[in-house]
Amino acid sequence: MSVPTSGRPSARSAKAGTKTIRETARDIPIYAEPDVLVVGGGAAGLSAACAAARAGADTLLIDAYGYLGGTLTLVTLGGFCGTHAIVDDKRLGRTVGGIYMEVEDRLKRYDGLLEPRRHGKIIGVPYESIALRRVADEIVAANGVKVLLHTSAVDVQTENGRVTAVIIENKGGRSAILPRVVVDCSGDGDVAARAGAEFGLGEDGETQYASAMFRLGNVDQERAGKLSRPQIRELLEQAVADGFPLPRTAIGYHVNPLPGVVHLNVTKLGDENGAPFNLVDPEQLSAAEREGRRQVRMYEEVFRKYVPGFENARVLDIGAKVGIRETRVIRGDSELQVEDIRNCVKPEDRIACTGWPLEIHGRGLATQWEFLPDGEYYGIPWGCLVVKGFENLLVAGRNLSSSHAAQSSARAGGPCFAMGEAAGAGAALSLSDNGRVRSVPINALQSALEQHGAILAPDLR
Ligand SMILES: Cc1cc2nc3c(=O)[nH]c(=O)nc-3n(C[C@H](O)[C@H](O)[C@H](O)COP(=O)(O)OP(=O)(O)OC[C@H]3O[C@@H](n4cnc5c(N)ncnc54)[C@H](O)[C@@H]3O)c2cc1C
Repeated sequence: MSVPTSGRPSARSAKAGTKTIRETARDIPIYAEPDVLVVGGGAAGLSAACAAARAGADTLLIDAYGYLGGTLTLVTLGGFCGTHAIVDDKRLGRTVGGIYMEVEDRLKRYDGLLEPRRHGKIIGVPYESIALRRVADEIVAANGVKVLLHTSAVDVQTENGRVTAVIIENKGGRSAILPRVVVDCSGDGDVAARAGAEFGLGEDGETQYASAMFRLGNVDQERAGKLSRPQIRELLEQAVADGFPLPRTAIGYHVNPLPGVVHLNVTKLGDENGAPFNLVDPEQLSAAEREGRRQVRMYEEVFRKYVPGFENARVLDIGAKVGIRETRVIRGDSELQVEDIRNCVKPEDRIACTGWPLEIHGRGLATQWEFLPDGEYYGIPWGCLVVKGFENLLVAGRNLSSSHAAQSSARAGGPCFAMGEAAGAGAALSLSDNGRVRSVPINALQSALEQHGAILAPDLR
């Protein structure tokens, strides 16, 4: 499989052909001229927009879908991860605060959050994804963010290393946004890539596998909740031995705050040769969606047949899009490396922390986990958000500047919230120097974050 790993990507697969037409040049309206434009309203974008607006910047947030939350709502995840770290056998400590805490507090008001749960060394905070859509609306409104949904960033204009315009499309047609600073939280690094920023795409072009996520209803939660993940894995391995061609037996599951509902992270989407799809290729993305639905049906059958508590379970919903772990990672001034995580490095200019392990969804039935020692965490430096070669462009979230393996940890929801908050606060601070994000004083940024409850030195004693 040949995939571009830098430069301006093709919007279509190589198969789309070499025949072209010349698009008609035309004047398009300027939709807005905000201080800060945030593209993508997932964990990172939601936090970025709130932090920028809270700091007084005129902030516009756009998203391609009809609700905010990105992977956390669109893909129906069941629990926040990377928000806590293990202190010892009995105790956990928080590694992410700030806007994420505001999200937790608001979810509690809707009975949409459970206490953190441990599965061995893995910690998840179960939440209800429909409640999170509403919480996301509330939180952007409370912080004064302007939001435009069903709107995609489709092109970018640049001049001397500055993004001067982001072209958007929606039901109103095509228009332009002229921001002073842009924060690309699209997950796929769409804005940065279209601006011509360098990016990586997996290791030798092979990314982590995607998963179609789904919720099963009518589950006997009490019996199901007693099973450990290794026990469920054994049952699924029995199904494989009996002839079910399951691509994955190592599962993630979260008991949902809704009675009788369990959220499953168990599918593994590969093409006809078993290779992961390149999910910035529209044809492969389409094939992945179809394969996801096929696998969900198969896992429903297997869970009903093999796993106690699931005998009468039925699929309640499947994510509105496949769960994408990895596409483009944009090259920044710094690049998070796997050794930074293994050595629990805490750089002076860190703007986010997490204790989430390396979690690689590569080939084979299992997921590769590599845990940090108890009581440990690592920090993500500001330079991982500052796009190399650009003056007024930041990235945050799963498209941060990182190696393939390092991204497998930093992409968890918790650190994405924290990175986004830092990007938004940093974007607002940069306005005093005409949006030059590289010149943001790190001490001032760190103080601003801590004033709002962000955690830059977790207490894990
Ligand atoms: C299968 C799977 C399971 C996971 N399980 C967990 C888990 O249990 N717990 C956990 O904490 N994390 C989990 N993660 C990781 C985590 O949820 C995500 O990596 C994280 O939420 C990503 O946040 P983000 O804001 O960087 O990007 P995203 O959530 O991908 O958000 C990007 C947003 O940008 C929008 N967008 C994209 N392109 C454009 C465009 N051109 N114009 C406008 N809008 C655009 C999208 O609509 C989306 O809303 C999982 C991920 C996957 C894929």
